[in-house]
Amino acid sequence: MVDSSRLARIKMFVLDMDGTIYLGNQLFPFTKDFLETVRASGRDCCFFTNNSSKNREAYLQKLRGMGIDIEPEKMLISNGVILDWLKIHHPGESCYVVGTPPLLRDFQSAGVQLDDKDPDCVILGFDTTLTYEKLRLACDFIRAGKPVFGVNPDWNCPVEGGFIPDCGSIAALVKASTGVQCEFFGKPSRHALDYMLAHTGCAPQEMAVVGDRLYTDIAVAAGSEVTSILVMSGETTPAMLAESPIQPDLVFEDLAGLADALKAL
Ligand SMILES: [Mg+2]
Repeated sequence: MVDSSRLARIKMFVLDMDGTIYLGNQLFPFTKDFLETVRASGRDCCFFTNNSSKNREAYLQKLRGMGIDIEPEKMLISNGVILDWLKIHHPGESCYVVGTPPLLRDFQSAGVQLDDKDPDCVILGFDTTLTYEKLRLACDFIRAGKPVFGVNPDWNCPVEGGFIPDCGSIAALVKASTGVQCEFFGKPSRHALDYMLAHTGCAPQEMAVVGDRLYTDIAVAAGSEVTSILVMSGETTPAMLAESPIQPDLVFEDLAGLADALKAL
């Protein structure tokens, strides 16, 4: 049974992408109707991805290609979470960034100086252009005492035909070498939740995070008044949900089920 009073108070849905609104490059057939239903009910949506191998422009383009046109500020990404935090907590500091060209560009556009000689801190991203030399440098800087931060904690990223190692796995390799565990920023960190609230202007009880993964999309809302909504259209199986210590506030088969619940309010 859906807790309709919990759903009724939601003004903003923060949607995960892969497994939630599409699978790979295939938009789910119900996603556009869901977005229209949210709009028609006087509510709003934005999108959040942990994938730090890409940037906002790449995701806006992907969505446009699927016929979904959104304002750029509605596309949130873990890159922005760590950049906002660095601005406040490490202003003016230089970074050695283990990352793809789009992540490096995000750092440069935010005014962060990139430094591979004597950086103030080390950033680990989901680097699909990772090389042994980048790992060696990062580990050297960390052993010399530079603080290290991870953009997103995901172990793997789903791709067509399986998974590829994500930022969490790169950070695990770095930890094995240096003994230092980095602090992570994307979902499920508190930094990500604070970022979502700040960028939507919502109170916690007005916001819902929607996603298919328990340890990121659902865990991000734990211990807050933000509502977590699990959709079973991605990686979570009923057995995984039954065994998980992380439990969502609401569960739907997919966004079509959530759209039906909104129409029934
Ligand atoms: Mg997902």
